[in-house]
Amino acid sequence: MCPDRTFVADMMLGRLARWLRILGIDVLYLNPVDDAELIRLSRRDKRILLTRDTRLVQRRDVGEHLLIRENDPMAQLAAVIRVYPPAPECILTRCIRCNTLLTASEKRDVRDEVPEHIYHTVSRFARCIQCDRVYWEGSHCRHMLETCRRLIGGQ
Ligand SMILES: [Zn+2]
Repeated sequence: MCPDRTFVADMMLGRLARWLRILGIDVLYLNPVDDAELIRLSRRDKRILLTRDTRLVQRRDVGEHLLIRENDPMAQLAAVIRVYPPAPECILTRCIRCNTLLTASEKRDVRDEVPEHIYHTVSRFARCIQCDRVYWEGSHCRHMLETCRRLIGGQ
């Protein structure tokens, strides 16, 4: 089961948001967005606020949050999953672009949308019904996947 906690990331954390989505974690990322809106979204949807802004976390109306002190996106990712460990089975269940949960697709339904050699070598496909993008394991950079698995496995 994927953890049901969700996040909202500030504008400085776009790359972190993409990494977290690869891990299947629900991360709302808007750009532009102002501080008041970030806090409003965080509280309304009970999303944990991820931010690099030390002033923002001192506001009295801020809800649950994690202050990200690292500059490097991989170090940021490690910092988040140290506190909020993801579930390995949730990797690649979410659209990196728009955060929507992916839906399993029949192989024949993606025939015209993936390269020929992919169609013949990959058996499992998924689709984002929001932006209509088709995913398969190789559609994410192999290096990214290995990095994710190493981070999770190292817990
Ligand atoms: Zn999408």
